[in-house]
Amino acid sequence: MRSNTLIYLDNNSTTKVDPRVIDAMLPYYTEYYGNASSSHLAGAKSFEAVKQSRIKVAELIGAGESEVFFTSGATESINMVLKGLISNSAKKNPHIITSTTEHPAVLDTCRFLEQKGVSVTYLSVSANGIIDIEELEQAITDNTILVSIMLVNNETGVIQPIKQIADLAHSHNVLFMTDATQAFGKMKISVENLGIDILCFSGHKFYGPKGIGGIYLRSRRPFKVKIPSLLHGGGHENGIRSGTLNVPGIVGIGRAVEIALSDMFKDEKSVNKLREKLETHLLQIPNTFINGDKNNRIYNTTNICFEGADADAIVVGLKNIAVSNGSACSSTSVEPSHVLAAMGRTDLQAFSSLRFSLGRFNTEKEIDITVEKVRKIVMQLREML
Ligand SMILES: *Cc1c(COP(=O)(O)O)cnc(C)c1O
Repeated sequence: MRSNTLIYLDNNSTTKVDPRVIDAMLPYYTEYYGNASSSHLAGAKSFEAVKQSRIKVAELIGAGESEVFFTSGATESINMVLKGLISNSAKKNPHIITSTTEHPAVLDTCRFLEQKGVSVTYLSVSANGIIDIEELEQAITDNTILVSIMLVNNETGVIQPIKQIADLAHSHNVLFMTDATQAFGKMKISVENLGIDILCFSGHKFYGPKGIGGIYLRSRRPFKVKIPSLLHGGGHENGIRSGTLNVPGIVGIGRAVEIALSDMFKDEKSVNKLREKLETHLLQIPNTFINGDKNNRIYNTTNICFEGADADAIVVGLKNIAVSNGSACSSTSVEPSHVLAAMGRTDLQAFSSLRFSLGRFNTEKEIDITVEKVRKIVMQLREML
């Protein structure tokens, strides 16, 4: 392998589009470009392709076809649901419960709603990143309309006890939503078994294209979900989201789902093996530790703290190896990861932590190269202290 070849270990940010997905999409740009709402044959072809994708998405999570809606991605889905449920609520002072380690798509939308007078509770997490069920129970009030907890954390890979959370919410007659963006297409999800009423996902986190995603909204009682339209117009997506359908994108996400349905367990096995190898070797570097619960974690992610080495400097040193340092840059300062901060890490530890997120296309050779390079850079940086 040439030394300037990209080694991509940042699959939680976005993934390469699977070539099989591109093959499926291309004809919908070149030949079958009809508007899915048009009544001529070209439109019917697009309409049918959209229908087939919707059926596949529904199959992946055990939902009904009519419960799946396409959007531009998880950010839009999350905004639509949180703002929509609040504007639809019959309660005078609606209350939302979420957690401190959610993705900014949830946190920033909640902060926006707080400015509009909505009350929001942000549950804390333990040192391993998992919420406390008792704290959740105490937070639920008569005004609570929604509990929103992510399935898999994007920075640490930590998996929350979703079923327990959903059951508790339901026992208080409260809806349960999960941002499943990091789980969708990577692990088995049954909305029925897990008690999920609302689920958000994005195509580009599991080898599909960018700019396409969706929502599952339960249509069956007693936890039937109804949200108003935020985009008005032609009444697409059953009136929930107007705008001409992104047919190639929908075909692409459908193909990515189809591949997930057939390859998910194969991918899990091979990616997990690479993650274990990477993690085992990186932890042999002195003064390193894993951020996040080792036993409740998705198979592709590891977040490791290299104490005494600046993560930003490691990223720069790694050059053609793409990993994430997790910090958020605002216009005025660099903030430590809010996820690691919520887990009780010091700023220094957070600024010394890196996320490695693996995917379907990684190889053992890439892992070997990465281990050697990280080891070398961390040792060099520590010597400079
Ligand atoms: C990427 C991501 C999102 C946002 O997805 P977009 O495709 O950028 O809208 C939301 N939640 C989680 C957990 C994510 O990883």
